[in-house]
Amino acid sequence: MSIATNIESLQAELKPIGVTLIAVSKTKSNEEIMEAYQAGQRIFGENQVQELVEKQEHLPKDIAWHLIGHLQTNKVKYIAEFVTMIHSVDSLKVLQEINKRAKQHDRIIDCLLQVHIADEEAKFGFDHAELIELLRSEELVELQNIRICGLMGIATNTENQKVIKEEFYELKMLFDGVKASYFRKEDFFSILSMGMSSDYHLAIEKGSNMVRLGSTVFGKRVVKHYKLKDDNNTKS
Ligand SMILES: *Cc1c(COP(=O)(O)O)cnc(C)c1O
Repeated sequence: MSIATNIESLQAELKPIGVTLIAVSKTKSNEEIMEAYQAGQRIFGENQVQELVEKQEHLPKDIAWHLIGHLQTNKVKYIAEFVTMIHSVDSLKVLQEINKRAKQHDRIIDCLLQVHIADEEAKFGFDHAELIELLRSEELVELQNIRICGLMGIATNTENQKVIKEEFYELKMLFDGVKASYFRKEDFFSILSMGMSSDYHLAIEKGSNMVRLGSTVFGKRVVKHYKLKDDNNTKS
């Protein structure tokens, strides 16, 4: 199947049920991205700041770029002018930096808080207690140039569907609780980003409304050097 047919069939599957497709284009060429673009796709996800910046410069300006990978505080400045949504916010510190840079560009940047749901050490994200601490913190109120639009999570990389379903269920429960307690009147707090190529059907079954699909859209990725580095990162 071609990239264009993949986009068309995914959109036909996801749109009617209200699930937004993020086409994850990391390691993919501008030509491949343009094939998806020509098939109507406008939201693309990247996990590396440098790669995102390079692609954004050369591709159509009406693409909505989502950063889905870990974001270091010192790299926020490179994407603050154009990024549409950051899925991978995992500290107050990075949120404050996003706010500061967004303000410099007179923007409000939409963010998701990444929650650590996987049964794996080397994954980023808040645990429950840290998340609640952030949501209660007084510093958060001062951040006028960011908008917390929901939560994001990555399930354990396992064949065991029961484990994956439990993790997605847990994140959905947390999302509902956070919505009810902290964002009851904020309509923008509405996004639950969970599900990748291997598990997006389970994620949707458990309440996801935004899926991040790479290989299902573009085919398998050739593993590049910087990918290995990223996968081995520990929390910073
Ligand atoms: C790479 C990546 C995806 C997409 O992975 P696929 O298995 O190719 O669908 C989704 N989310 C994040 C955070 C990623 O880094």
